[in-house]
Amino acid sequence: MIASVLPTYNRAPLSFISGEGAWLTEADGSRYLDLGAGIAVNVLGHANPDLVAALTQQAGKLWHVSNLYQIAEQQRLADMLVEATFADTVFFTNSGTEAAELAIKMARKYWYEKGEANRIEILTFEGSFHGRSTGAIAASGAEKMVKGFGPLMPGFVHLPWGDIEAVKAAIGPDTAAILIEPVQGEGGIRPMPDADLKALRALCDETGTLLILDEVQCGMGRTGRLFAHEWAGITPDIMMVAKGIGGGFPLGAVLATENAASGMVAGTHGSTYGGNPLACAVGARVMEIVAEPAFLAEVNRKAALLRQRLEGLVAAHPEVLEGVRGQGLMLGLKCKVAPAEMVKAGYAEHVLTVPAADNVLRLLPPLNITEDEITEAVARLDRAATRLA
Ligand SMILES: *Cc1c(COP(=O)(O)O)cnc(C)c1O
Repeated sequence: MIASVLPTYNRAPLSFISGEGAWLTEADGSRYLDLGAGIAVNVLGHANPDLVAALTQQAGKLWHVSNLYQIAEQQRLADMLVEATFADTVFFTNSGTEAAELAIKMARKYWYEKGEANRIEILTFEGSFHGRSTGAIAASGAEKMVKGFGPLMPGFVHLPWGDIEAVKAAIGPDTAAILIEPVQGEGGIRPMPDADLKALRALCDETGTLLILDEVQCGMGRTGRLFAHEWAGITPDIMMVAKGIGGGFPLGAVLATENAASGMVAGTHGSTYGGNPLACAVGARVMEIVAEPAFLAEVNRKAALLRQRLEGLVAAHPEVLEGVRGQGLMLGLKCKVAPAEMVKAGYAEHVLTVPAADNVLRLLPPLNITEDEITEAVARLDRAATRLA
């Protein structure tokens, strides 16, 4: 008999009833150190007092009114994002995959309105992940996501990861946009080198192609800058954000320049929930904290510490681990065993991690994890690796 919850996940036999900072607690009181943060979502940890206050204050006033009306909290968060980034305008969604849908629509509408309706093609990359909607799986093209769900939305061209020559060869008169994660998450914590992101920007500038960055996982302070593309000194035309932006409250966004968004006039897109007062009150509090230069400096300091300790861990377990990669607090441990085995060994040592493709174990802790917690986390990972040796 089918489970009452549609069984699309292989869930671990763990169930948490409360959380505090980087810790999660089960009903029997056992505590786990959380290096997954709900897949890069809980950027300020669990039950963060500032976010609880923002949520409960708003919850007592107004939850939802729909986008038929002015929403002060949404306006405020949009202004903060515009102020802090390349963007001139923002549309709020409830998830990353909805942000992908709008980014795709926006790019196609842009060319349609420019009188080049043939420009519908979007170049994407092997190993990418943009969500689970029919559009987002077509964008990724990965067999395990698309098999059985056809016919797929046409217009995506899948290129080898990081192959700038392949991009050059693929850009043609029908190309609307390039869609890429500056740091691949599900694909195995694979950062695109700064020089390659610059090269993509230059190619887009030469050809008019729109550059869409998917910062759903690597954005919101995760890499030590508010958005990962800042490291490369470039800006996109369109950017998808979600995961960390709500700190655990479902929220996503598409940020865009005025030019890229020019086709999206009244009536061309919508969302019932997107950007409701409750979500945006929490999102604004997350932004106030995470966008602070001092907060991001701390992320970088702790990231350097964690990375150094992980290098030591790899050196101590050459039969299990192979290397460290990633940026900021978006780190991957390349494994010689199946990463799912490391995740399981971590459960036994009460430390939570997330597997990714390319044999990588993902570490995405809350951005405000403490030094002591980093020390404790690495000690637990060390014991987990010892279990597998
Ligand atoms: C998680 C993720 C998405 C999809 O976000 P959902 O909120 O799960 O729909 C899209 N892109 C990237 C890079 C992601 O990591």
